[in-house]
Amino acid sequence: MSFDLSGRTALVTGASRGIGYFLALELAKRGAHVIAVARTVGGLEELDDEIQAMGNTATLVPLDLKDMPALDLLGSSINDRWGKLDILVANAGVLGTISPVGHVEAKVFDNVINTNVTSIWRLIRSVDPLLRRSDAGRAILMSSGVAHTARAFWAPYAASKAALEVMGRSWAEETKQMPLRVNSVNPGATRTAMRAKAMPGEDPETLPHPADVAAKIVQLADPALTITGQLYDVRQDKFLHYHMPS
Ligand code: NDP
Repeated sequence: MSFDLSGRTALVTGASRGIGYFLALELAKRGAHVIAVARTVGGLEELDDEIQAMGNTATLVPLDLKDMPALDLLGSSINDRWGKLDILVANAGVLGTISPVGHVEAKVFDNVINTNVTSIWRLIRSVDPLLRRSDAGRAILMSSGVAHTARAFWAPYAASKAALEVMGRSWAEETKQMPLRVNSVNPGATRTAMRAKAMPGEDPETLPHPADVAAKIVQLADPALTITGQLYDVRQDKFLHYHMPS
């Protein structure tokens, strides 16, 4: 996918490893300035080194996304420096524990919902005016197949991803007359730390590398993209269309 993102700014959450790391690289490769958010400074610095080696720059934001007041401030900091935001990748997420729904600890449930839904709403609230100011604003929300397929023992995570997708669709509907395009993604099983935690008995070598998955997802940042309010399925390399009100 060869499109140019020079002069554009992309905020990527969960950029310290896994899919977010490689998506940040894909965006930087196309010329975007990446604002990389995660808690692990080492992972962010590694990303920064790779981006500098390709002759581009990044801004590192070591942050716990559950720090809601910090998310409120992030929008104004981006506004002060760039005056707009072109791409938001809400990729960071946590799995929680895999257990029967009646056995899930309250703190685990809260952590999953706060990280996978509430923080993203708070981030959207913070940067929505900046995305609307871009001539080709793009929002990419990282969902999961379990938002649609019943899977025993994954209730908090599945509920969080379903909530994220529905929130994204509402946002897309609100903004469909604007250049802003809002879409969700099902990356499919990918060779990352989260997947290894979810499926400890699985051979990671049987799974796609996050670099290959990111190379497909990046097309949702294309300034020429017209689709909004839909779900992109990486495995099938196509949009699975939701019903949209006319
Ligand atoms: P990883 O566990 O490898 O990476 C998760 C990223 O999220 C890390 O960079 C982590 O950074 C960041 N993160 C988690 N919690 C926080 C927090 N509180 N504050 C800031 N950053 C946080 O996951 P994947 O790369 O596998 O997953 C990326 C996305 O794709 C997730 O939303 C996941 O649900 C989704 N997905 C993944 C699939 C897979 O098979 N891998 C399948 C379907 C969906 P740090 O710990 O440094 O803060």
